[in-house]
Amino acid sequence: MMKSLLIRGGHLVDPGQGMDETGSLLITEGRVSWLGRGDVAPPQPDYDVIPAEGLVVCPGFVDVHCHLREPGFEQKETIATGTRAAARGGFTTVCCMPNTSPPLDNQAAVEYIKSKAVAEGAVRVLPIGSISRDRKGQELVDMGALASAGVIGFSDDGDPVRDEGLMRQALECCRPLGLPVIDHCEDRALTEGGVINQGEISVRLGLGGMPAAAEENVVARDLRLAELTGGWVHIAHVTTEGAVDLVRRAKEKGIPVTAEVTPHHLTLTEEAVVRCGTGAKVNPPLRTSKDVQALIRGLIDGVIDVIATDHAPHTEAEKMREFDAAPFGISGFETALGSLMGLVHGGQLKLANLISRLTCEPARIIGDRYGRLGTLGVGTMADVTIFDPDKEWVVDPASFASKGKNTPLAGSVLKGRVMATIFQGRLVYKDDSLRVEVR
Ligand SMILES: [Zn+2]
Repeated sequence: MMKSLLIRGGHLVDPGQGMDETGSLLITEGRVSWLGRGDVAPPQPDYDVIPAEGLVVCPGFVDVHCHLREPGFEQKETIATGTRAAARGGFTTVCCMPNTSPPLDNQAAVEYIKSKAVAEGAVRVLPIGSISRDRKGQELVDMGALASAGVIGFSDDGDPVRDEGLMRQALECCRPLGLPVIDHCEDRALTEGGVINQGEISVRLGLGGMPAAAEENVVARDLRLAELTGGWVHIAHVTTEGAVDLVRRAKEKGIPVTAEVTPHHLTLTEEAVVRCGTGAKVNPPLRTSKDVQALIRGLIDGVIDVIATDHAPHTEAEKMREFDAAPFGISGFETALGSLMGLVHGGQLKLANLISRLTCEPARIIGDRYGRLGTLGVGTMADVTIFDPDKEWVVDPASFASKGKNTPLAGSVLKGRVMATIFQGRLVYKDDSLRVEVR
């Protein structure tokens, strides 16, 4: 028998249960066995203790969009390193994109990821299947087979679905499966040669621009097709004010759509490219402060459902290339909470809203085929994140568990740090300064 673990006296924030108060949480045999408000003691005497006074205790974060790179790109990341990075970032469930080599376009590939994750992963890994065979954008995968293998949705992320007929077919097939089609919205006719946001800075630096219209064209198309088919479209990494408006109007009309935004698009602008070079090269690109404000408003209003990292690790050698040749992507797991807490400290976002976008809302997108996620409800699997909202730290990519050291935040001071991550009742990450009282 595993000894019980008491998380004592923390600030319990579980937006799915409307909980936002001081209390304690007991974990027994991998599940939440008791929740006590205020300073009530648990009903049994035998447990170890994590003193959580002054810390936030919330459901483990759920990320619906990341790249673990395995199989095929193990020099960038593996399931083992990626899930350790996720645990350090407070994530207990991560959904991995299928742009691997080979891609996740068949049942065997999905089973491979699932078994590898159970054997080597620090946290739960839920695969996303590709939309098209070999991600070529031509022929639909066998969506029913992939759904029974356990994918939580379909995406050709990294690439948009260029063929409207294929997108319509995907939405039609997904509808009875109850799964989302997740689109990377980019009109490639408008982003040819583009490497950063099209605007004043791309002109000044002489770099190819990617206009907001490239994103908005495809978002608009996808919303029309979702309306036509009744299929559920999930818009990956929304970055522009116009795209937020499109999603807002679609939701008002009752079109089945959900949307995500990344921590970097919420906290950085295109200016970061000037400071950080290829470290800030990401697709879709960092936009303007007006876009950032619209994204934050979208989160407050619920137009944007979730925050997803789009964790996209690359090797140092790849990111050292000249700007045009370096790959797009930011290693995002380990800085997500710290950078997002900047919005809370700055008074732009409420703590409970932030946590809902990282827990119960993404859990709603995944559904309950993997059990109830994103909650501290008694009886559920004990996936818990404990963080210090006020602890300041300096981002040092060398200390990342991720193989991807590619971040525009190197050397930045962030306020808010994950202190412990508990996955299915087991401590999978602990900050050195946190002391567990063994009794
Ligand atoms: Zn993408």
